[in-house]
Amino acid sequence: MKYRKLGKSGLKVSELSFGSWVTFNKQVDSGLAERMFGTCFDAGVNFFDNAEGYEAGESEIVMGKALSALNRPRDSYCVSSKVFFGSNKKPSPTQIGLSKKHVTEACHQALKRLQVDYLDLYFCHRADPDTPIGETVWAMHNLITQGKILYWGTSEWTAEEITEAYEFAEKNHLSPPTMEQPQYNLLDRKRFEIEYKPIFEKYGMGTTTWSPLASGALTGKYLEGIPEGSRASLEGYEWLKNSMVESERGQERMTKVAALAPIAEEMGVKLSNLAIAWCLLNENVSTVILGASKVEQLEENLKSLEVLPLINQEVINKLSSI
Ligand code: NDP
Repeated sequence: MKYRKLGKSGLKVSELSFGSWVTFNKQVDSGLAERMFGTCFDAGVNFFDNAEGYEAGESEIVMGKALSALNRPRDSYCVSSKVFFGSNKKPSPTQIGLSKKHVTEACHQALKRLQVDYLDLYFCHRADPDTPIGETVWAMHNLITQGKILYWGTSEWTAEEITEAYEFAEKNHLSPPTMEQPQYNLLDRKRFEIEYKPIFEKYGMGTTTWSPLASGALTGKYLEGIPEGSRASLEGYEWLKNSMVESERGQERMTKVAALAPIAEEMGVKLSNLAIAWCLLNENVSTVILGASKVEQLEENLKSLEVLPLINQEVINKLSSI
């Protein structure tokens, strides 16, 4: 495993990290999570991603149980949470968004559920048009000075919103956002590569990128239909099945996946490994967050690092043309 600096901060994160969206509590219990973290630690993974909104807080509870059972030194790995969507299935207005109240209380709740004294990374899961950006920056800055979080960041904010937060922080001598958590994969490139270019150059933002396999689409396993037990077959994720496979957009994406598959085949590698490794070619990626519902998937995906040196300019051009 290699490690990259989280943007211009001093924190070094593993090139591949591991997240829990959809999987923890729904497909993965704390026993399986413990095995998965064991696999991660053995491979040198040092960052684990979570959010208050994943399975209404239950994902953090599963992660907390598994990590505390493993009892690894707390200073050897990083844990995140995110605030915005709330952890209550029927939230009151104070239990969602980025107000000072919810940002603060969601942090306290995440600390309890994850069984940690501080969060290494704490993200605003989306921008909140109802809260002035300055109020959120102050809330994050206060949590940093209290030692409850170390770095704060954004997820899927526009470059303009990130700029506003950064400049408010600088002007008021507060901690600016260190990282953004955007989607980035072979099918979803535009925001990362074009919109964010100025914020990488100007502010040195780090990134913890999500869905390297576009929720599994880039394994190619949906080309023949929807496999039983796969993410698109899960109850409550019908919207994902629609956008991944069934809608016009989904169909277009599947056509692209079908065209990408022979490139991997020619190289003698799995499309999933090529897709994950490809993300790491971009130097603005600090860490690619993997997702997996089985230990075997995680083991396989970690092998993507071996595919990275095989990706030459010709392969890059072929992938980009699709
Ligand atoms: P991926 O796009 O890699 O999708 C992971 C899923 O694909 C797995 O759970 C599994 O689903 C399937 N899969 C993975 N590997 C294989 C394999 N080798 N063979 C077959 N199927 C495979 O990542 P995620 O979408 O899970 O995103 C990763 C992390 O990013 C999340 O856990 C979360 O931490 C973060 N994230 C952040 C978001 C944000 O808004 N900030 C949004 C989304 C994710 P299955 O077996 O069920 O089919």
